Amino acid sequence: MQLNVKNLKVSYGNIKALHGLDFSIDAGEIVTIIGANGAGKSTTLRAISRMVPSESGSVIEFEGKDVLSYTTDKVVTRLGISHVPEGRRIFGNLTVTENLTLACFARKDTEQIETDKKWVFDLFPRLEERKNQISGTLSGGEQQMLAVGRGYLSGRKIMILDEPSMGLAPLLMLEMFDALKEINRHGTTILLVEQNARLALKFAQRGYVIEHGKLVLEGPADKLLDDPEVKKAYLGA
Ligand code: ATP
Repeated sequence: MQLNVKNLKVSYGNIKALHGLDFSIDAGEIVTIIGANGAGKSTTLRAISRMVPSESGSVIEFEGKDVLSYTTDKVVTRLGISHVPEGRRIFGNLTVTENLTLACFARKDTEQIETDKKWVFDLFPRLEERKNQISGTLSGGEQQMLAVGRGYLSGRKIMILDEPSMGLAPLLMLEMFDALKEINRHGTTILLVEQNARLALKFAQRGYVIEHGKLVLEGPADKLLDDPEVKKAYLGA
């Protein structure tokens, strides 16, 4: 397994957000974590990228390395884990190209960087058309593409994405998921957190369902799509 999470516990002050979560992801997989509002999905991703501290006893290993001994920036630059958080964190006052260049700041493989930037522009031609535009003036969908492009350029082993479909019109949503599939085909593992469970389960190979910071169900995505409990609770059926 490429990513191994065991007994993951996170609290915000007195609020226990995760009560000992276990899951793992193989290299090359697309895995989703679904759950209701407040179930702990974002917290799980924040723990992996070290944006929130995990409690003692928690284990997060990536390619055999102890993720919990790395700082937030080293998780990206040394381990190749990139977190695309909810709400498109881009530099709004910089151009598209400047945003992409900044995402590569810690990389030294200059030639590969150029290849990868071109690849991102092939993936999102709209970004190339707007490469000199100030990012804050892009549409919501374009900003989301830029956030994903930045994520890809900064750490390419695994991308962990928080609600990439949020705020996107249906057509753009599908475009975004096609692009993520392409990124995965190109060799990047994907861990996706989504409120749109149907979309996430159609996209992923495997899924985990969490409720109140605990794992309640796991399995192949198509089985979860057919599961009566999942249907009732998350698919509006
Ligand atoms: P959403 O889709 O609404 O973001 P989620 O499944 O991602 O939901 P989390 O955001 O991880 O859930 O929240 C898990 C729990 O932790 C919730 O009870 C939430 O209120 C709490 N929580 C999250 N962030 C904080 C914070 N910064 N301070 C205090 N409590 C928090």
